[in-house]
This record gives sequence, C-alpha cells and structure tokens, in this order.
Amino acid sequence: MGRRQYPWVLAAVPWSDAPQYTRGTHDGLPLLSHGCAPRDKLATYRQLRAIGRRPGGQDPVAVLYGRHNRSKKRWFASLYLISRSLPVRPMTPAKWTALAKANLARRICRTCGKDPLYVVPTSTRQCWPCFEITCESNETTDVMEAA
Ligand SMILES: [Zn+2]
Repeated sequence: MGRRQYPWVLAAVPWSDAPQYTRGTHDGLPLLSHGCAPRDKLATYRQLRAIGRRPGGQDPVAVLYGRHNRSKKRWFASLYLISRSLPVRPMTPAKWTALAKANLARRICRTCGKDPLYVVPTSTRQCWPCFEITCESNETTDVMEAA
C-alpha cells in the first residue's frame, strides 16, 4: 500500500468559476496531476508554442506534475491560461528592413555623411577621420585665439 503523496483538494482556480479538484499546491499554485489538467484551458509553455502562442507576460496559474516512466522521477511544468496567451509574432520582412535602417542610421557620420562600417560614437556622431579633423581645427582655433 503506497501512501498517496498528493491528496485531492477542492480549490478555487483561475480557469474555472466553480472550485476544481487539485492535488494541493506547489510554490503557492494549484497542483495538477498529468492527465487531469483541462487541456482546452491550460497549457505548458511548450504546448503554447506548439499551437503558435506564447504566455504573453502572464504568470503561470498552476503547476502540472507527472512521473517519467523510465527514471520514475517526478517532473513539474508551469501551466498558463490559453485564454490569456498571445499569438507568437514572427519577424516580418518590414520589421527586418526597419531594423536594418535603424542600424544604418547609427553608423552614418554626420560630418561627411559616409558609412564608416561601424557604429559611430553617440557623443560625436562622427567617424574617426572627421573627429580627428574637428579636434585639429579646434586646436588651431585655440592657438590663433591665444596668439
Ligand atoms: Zn566622417
């Protein structure tokens, strides 16, 4: 006779108006055994990705547990509300173009207007040759003023 580790507990849950049978709590969340979680309302992260959705910033509402057949080890997985999940947004060609433009703008030197093929410093927005010329002319001006 094996002692049942997780007794059935009737509890209020976020995915149903009526209290549902759970296996107690785990980390403060309702614990559900594998096979008794409502598949139409709750899903793990991987199950959400499989249907093209993501948790969308929501916290898990329950914990699913099961047992690996071979190792007999217990595993736990966070469960999210499918109703609160969001569709996965893939990078569209327009988004890639916008990103490339933004990166290009950060590389353009404001003095010569050329692309030095590296991101110019935000303080000067100049490529190194232009920055050095600016520095030299400033020094020259200082000398002339001092003279
Ligand atoms: Zn330049």
